[in-house]
Amino acid sequence: MPKPNTTDATRRHADTAWLNGIQAINDEAAGMLDVNIIDATAGVEMIFDAAIGDVEAATLMRAVYQAAARIKKAPRRAPALCLCCPRAVRRLTPATIFGVARPAIAKPSNALAFAFCDKCSADRGNRAAKAATGLRRIWPDLRTVEVTHPEGGRA
Ligand SMILES: [Zn+2]
Repeated sequence: MPKPNTTDATRRHADTAWLNGIQAINDEAAGMLDVNIIDATAGVEMIFDAAIGDVEAATLMRAVYQAAARIKKAPRRAPALCLCCPRAVRRLTPATIFGVARPAIAKPSNALAFAFCDKCSADRGNRAAKAATGLRRIWPDLRTVEVTHPEGGRA
């Protein structure tokens, strides 16, 4: 698969783990991504499912946890940016929405989460489209981005 756009990726997160995650997804995805949108309700369900041994839920929650940690530890002068727009994501609230991108293959070993800013988080009807656009900015050559759960959750 062609290379990701590391200039845009770097602008969104000045963080090596984020860039490494992008590269890992790139290598595994072959141009096709699945995206889960995770709001607070879906997050609670996934924490429960992960706790009772659901491997997929655990993978998604680990990715969200890592994204949250990246946002919290980002330096003030170089905050994480929304995947979808130029706004910074400096704090997490119960209204913060995450997305998790995974290669659209049978058993993906990589997952990369990102956050929506407060404004994009609130834009419920357009989150899926915005996420697809944001991911295409990082991976200009993506063949498909399927937002499998635009309203959150997996069911
Ligand atoms: Zn935004």
